[in-house]
Amino acid sequence: MTKKLLLLIVIIIMAVALPGMSVAEQAEQKTKGQDAAQPAGKPGKKAAKASHSSKKGSSKASTKKTAKKVKQKKATPAAADKTAPMALVKELRHWSNPDYTRIAVALDREAKFEFHRLPQNEELKTPPRLYIDIIGAKIAPGVKDITIGDGLLKKARIGQFRPDTVRVVLDLDSMKDYKVFTFSDPFSIIIDAKGERQPTISKARETTIAPLPATEAIKPVPTQEQVKEAARPAIGKIRRIVVDAGHGGHDPGALGVGGSREKDVVLQIALRLARKLKEELGLDVVLTRSTDVFIELKERTAIANQVGADLFVSIHANAALNRNSNGIETYYLNLAKTEKVAQLAAQENGTSLEKVSVLQAVLFDLMANYKLNDSAQLADDVQKAVYHRVGAKYSGVKNLGVKQGPFYVLVGATMPSILVETAFLSNEREEARLKDPAYQECTTEGIVDGIREYIASLK
Ligand SMILES: [Zn+2]
Repeated sequence: MTKKLLLLIVIIIMAVALPGMSVAEQAEQKTKGQDAAQPAGKPGKKAAKASHSSKKGSSKASTKKTAKKVKQKKATPAAADKTAPMALVKELRHWSNPDYTRIAVALDREAKFEFHRLPQNEELKTPPRLYIDIIGAKIAPGVKDITIGDGLLKKARIGQFRPDTVRVVLDLDSMKDYKVFTFSDPFSIIIDAKGERQPTISKARETTIAPLPATEAIKPVPTQEQVKEAARPAIGKIRRIVVDAGHGGHDPGALGVGGSREKDVVLQIALRLARKLKEELGLDVVLTRSTDVFIELKERTAIANQVGADLFVSIHANAALNRNSNGIETYYLNLAKTEKVAQLAAQENGTSLEKVSVLQAVLFDLMANYKLNDSAQLADDVQKAVYHRVGAKYSGVKNLGVKQGPFYVLVGATMPSILVETAFLSNEREEARLKDPAYQECTTEGIVDGIREYIASLK
């Protein structure tokens, strides 16, 4: 493991593994009202104290599930590397899902961070809190506190705690357990808070739909009215499906030998698929993107969770160094069984192979809500049907089968979800086919057949 890799490490801390509150944390708790948004230039001792018992992200200590308490009396605050440029906190967002609430803090570059948990203080009437100090960072203009009120989290507050430290504080309602990990492109610190929602908040769904960002990509997401209507008991078990066209915007995905881009061909297939699913299966279809825009991987499944989708299908086109490689394969989320799969996951995740191995190390924790068996079944139905359709019409089509891989885009999905690698853009013949509307249509028909088969198997 290189030092660089260690800096990139994704961390998962289960609340269960948290050590008890230290004296320092209790002291911290008494500094009421200064846990966030403290004006810059007012460095206090709190930060130093808090760091005694903190868990640190992006550091060697973070690889351990339970960080050791440091007992030094004169600890210095975790300081940013003076030579490194400051990271800019560009966005603070949240998504409320039935089982958890996800908070994402997006930065323009990687940064170190520490997180801490504080109990409720009856005397000061402060709720239990979780906070994250991002070291060597500044807040971009316009990034503000957000009110959540979904029964798990009350609010997320953000402030420039010290000149070089941004603090994000989560005011909790009923969180039982949480995970902190990072995403890349853009670098984001993610906090998934789990627990039972407070029953007093009865309209969690309505509050969850409102904060969707006003990006073009989000337009296809149904309005509140539609969501309310769809929340009625459905006739079939599968009512709403999210179709995700891979990549987009500044991320072209795989590039074909003849210059075609994955983001374009998969969008064409996704648009066809959306239309067919509506027309032929009568499903309510939500596209993560319907134009050439970039959407972060974490947002794609978040959209699916948010609209209460019953299925999630991500459309991709493959690429391999060996230009002879060809065929169709379908994935669901799990550990990579082979180096080849890990390599593909790195490609699709937009990360290095090293990061994929780090993701693998924590994948089981991330898969708590993942419908493993259903996803495997869906993948099997879709793979067979696509191969059946395409193989019947085109020569030399290879069935590469159903595989498992650590794909970021599937992490966090709470419904059966798969990723279809329709064909290889790196293969000359398949690239030509992928661009051809007739081939796109044939592939689409196969995917629809597979989904139809899957739905039928549920009855
Ligand atoms: Zn892709």
